[in-house]
Amino acid sequence: MGHQALERERSRSDSEYLQVPHLASGDMLREVCQQQTELGRQAVEYMQSGRLVPDEIVQEVVFSRLNELDCKQGYILDGFPRTQRQATLLDQRLDASGRPLSAVLEIRVPEDELLKRLASRGRQDDDRKIIQQRLQQYAEWTHPLLDYYRNRGILQVIDGLGNPDDVFTRILKVVDRISPEQVSQ
Ligand code: AMP
Repeated sequence: MGHQALERERSRSDSEYLQVPHLASGDMLREVCQQQTELGRQAVEYMQSGRLVPDEIVQEVVFSRLNELDCKQGYILDGFPRTQRQATLLDQRLDASGRPLSAVLEIRVPEDELLKRLASRGRQDDDRKIIQQRLQQYAEWTHPLLDYYRNRGILQVIDGLGNPDDVFTRILKVVDRISPEQVSQ
């Protein structure tokens, strides 16, 4: 199985195992870009240059998806939040519904491996300059969120090296350790 197929298999498996939908903000935004709407037109510009899409756009796309019926029992959010503003908005929303986050997983991969993986996806938004820009945006906006969640005691660090099956097994081990009380909160 090729790398991309394995990635798909893995992402299907985690959400199947937990029986909740896997919601990737990047996938949702790519769908929005396909639509001939003002929102899509704006999102395309940011994504093509490797910059983060503005919080208001991402929030609208992700939160409207969370309102759907299949999210009632929980969900895996992948790639969201990526800024402190998004994290705060998510907290506000979850606090209002009485179901705070159970866990945040950091899947940690050294930068050289990350570059290899990004380049091998072969997508239009993955060329070298754009990848550098994405890494810079990660360092500036997203990396600080690790402390935010670590201070709350819900950050779990997972070694992302190795093949997707190994990483998946590590994720399940961590998820299994999260108590049912935490998950059902
Ligand atoms: P990904 O598929 O997660 O690698 O995301 C691809 C691109 O979508 C990123 O480079 C951003 O431009 C945009 N994107 C995805 N998720 C977010 C987010 N939570 N906030 C802002 N931009 C995002």
